[in-house]
Amino acid sequence: MTVRKILLYTEHEKELRKKSSYVRRVDHKVRGLIADLKDTLNAHSNAIGLAAPQINSHQRVVIVCLGAGSEEDDEHGPPIALVNPKIVEAGDERRDFDGCLSFPGLYGETIRPHHLRVTGLDEAGKPFDRVYEGFDAVVVHHEIDHLDGVLFIDRVKDINDLYTVRQDEHGEPVRVPITSGK
Ligand SMILES: [Zn+2]
Repeated sequence: MTVRKILLYTEHEKELRKKSSYVRRVDHKVRGLIADLKDTLNAHSNAIGLAAPQINSHQRVVIVCLGAGSEEDDEHGPPIALVNPKIVEAGDERRDFDGCLSFPGLYGETIRPHHLRVTGLDEAGKPFDRVYEGFDAVVVHHEIDHLDGVLFIDRVKDINDLYTVRQDEHGEPVRVPITSGK
């Protein structure tokens, strides 16, 4: 049970860009990594996904919470682990909200598949073959990208699609494009 330090862009870009290796077997070390990923994710409210390279472990393991809405603060499921996740089908590309624990306070709009079929191993080491739809597909796609050193800013087509969020006078969140004031 350890909350690990999350590597941040740009200071840890080298580590975040490194490709991760396939896991040979889901053994106690891999289960320990999964436990650390869950603890680290749970330490961040509103976080719905984390990939092993973000805590400087270059193995193909990610955790995702399913059932999250795209931008609302809804209820979502508990974190589940995907080991060696492999995309075997992707489609229905759409523009959606994106953000990342390695980029605190930065958000963007990216185009990602809203239909994804993924194979891999679950945390018990059993093979799975699952379909993710809607924002679940976005989250799974974002996390799998991390295993290949791909970051969400790479999928932002226009700098005007990157923004921070501040609260207005009524306490409502409003988007502030990072290009504003320049
Ligand atoms: Zn991320």
